Amino acid sequence: MKQILLGVILLSVFSCKTEREQLNLSQGLHISNVTIITTEDGNYNPYIGHIIVDNDSIVLVSKNEPHIKGNYEKIDGTGKFIIPGLIDSHVHITEVQGMLPHHMEKYPELTKEFNSQMPRSYLYYGFTTLINLGGISEEQIASFNSQPAKPDLFHTGNSGAPVANGYPMNFAPEEFRFEAAPNFIYLESEAANTPDKFEPSNHTPKAVVERIKKSGAIAVKSYFESGFRGMPKLPVPTKGIMSNLQEETRSNGLVLIVHGNSLESHSFLSDVGVDVLAHGLWNWEKYKDVPTDSLPLEIKQTLDLQIQKQIGYMPTLTVIAGEEALADDDFFKQHELKKVVPQKLLDWYKTEEGQWFAKELFGEYSAAEVHEIYGNIQAHAMLALKYLSYNNGLLLFGTDTPSAPTYGNQPGINGFWELRLMEEAGVPLDKILSSATINNAKMFHLDASIGSLTKGKKANMLLLEKNPLQNINAYNTIENIFIGGKNIKRTDLEVKQ
Ligand SMILES: [Zn+2]
Repeated sequence: MKQILLGVILLSVFSCKTEREQLNLSQGLHISNVTIITTEDGNYNPYIGHIIVDNDSIVLVSKNEPHIKGNYEKIDGTGKFIIPGLIDSHVHITEVQGMLPHHMEKYPELTKEFNSQMPRSYLYYGFTTLINLGGISEEQIASFNSQPAKPDLFHTGNSGAPVANGYPMNFAPEEFRFEAAPNFIYLESEAANTPDKFEPSNHTPKAVVERIKKSGAIAVKSYFESGFRGMPKLPVPTKGIMSNLQEETRSNGLVLIVHGNSLESHSFLSDVGVDVLAHGLWNWEKYKDVPTDSLPLEIKQTLDLQIQKQIGYMPTLTVIAGEEALADDDFFKQHELKKVVPQKLLDWYKTEEGQWFAKELFGEYSAAEVHEIYGNIQAHAMLALKYLSYNNGLLLFGTDTPSAPTYGNQPGINGFWELRLMEEAGVPLDKILSSATINNAKMFHLDASIGSLTKGKKANMLLLEKNPLQNINAYNTIENIFIGGKNIKRTDLEVKQ
């Protein structure tokens, strides 16, 4: 018996060594001798191996070189690194950066040029999946998807789920705001300010979530914002409404993401236990003037609750940087902007008209004053993020591009800036990579098809010259972007001059 067992063991060891996997590809890709960087659980063990793709899927990830027949392209990955395509789970692709709707109407050519470059700019910086968190129409989805090279797009329906007259409905004039937010949630306290033609029963959390689900959304976006920058006090959801919205969202198989960046909102939303916070905790309210090197106890306790409940946390540090950029004379000197933003639009930003938002935000402030105010907010945002990251909070990469009508949040490159800011905040490089890949994929129930380099998943991958676990600037050394197995050279995605 012993001898038979030994024989079986020897045979299996022997067969492992000699038997090369046989593959017959129809439309294949073989990336050989490449350092494979992928994780399912946040731990990375990079190794040199081979990735084989057929049509749009990964068919083999292995240390051993397989035997391949059929039709395929071979790419020598020696000295290079391969990672899953990046996922930005907080974007707004319905905007033209720096413009309001009336600007877009006035300059249809700029709008058109921007919209045909924008999906390419996201791919240029490695973003192969985007989640649009806000209203999007079927026409806008179709127009994005009609572009020849584009990331995979997911969304949260025709509108977010704000409470009646709450943020961000407050930005629209009263006569349009209800039509513009078909998924608003009825609030008893706003009954007098809600037009009669909107039936309360069509605006319960249940009715709203069902409508959002029907529109093909993967998540529900809601808001807790009592106002900022001199806004009048805004209505906010009650605990009952938010809990109900969370229950309805889960029972429909969706994910609830809620806007909030203040201590008040983070504390409320952590208490309810929503799935995801759409922003970091940077508005420290009564603690706003405390030194930027330690966390007040109340902030720490709020973050601890988020860690304990494993609430997804999107740092969105570029929200702050993207506004601050409007006071920065050197912003347009960054030559890489020319690769992702059409030149005519860059020129328009510098005109009197293009500076409208800069004037509105910072009219009476000097650049030095702006940098002091925003520097303080960013330091708080980074401190909260560092704490969360060192205590096993659940980080989800999200930029909020663009977070406001600012030209400081350009598609694709804003994601690269976000990655750099996360590193500056002290988030370890492995956690940065998993936040933009497997964590987002799992949270949004996309991990059966994306988020890691695994057999059977969609071939959304990036080939890099440098190692992103060693240097944050590696994300700017992408050579090839693979989307659904299609190989795109990075330089082919640049703005055509
Ligand atoms: Zn947003």
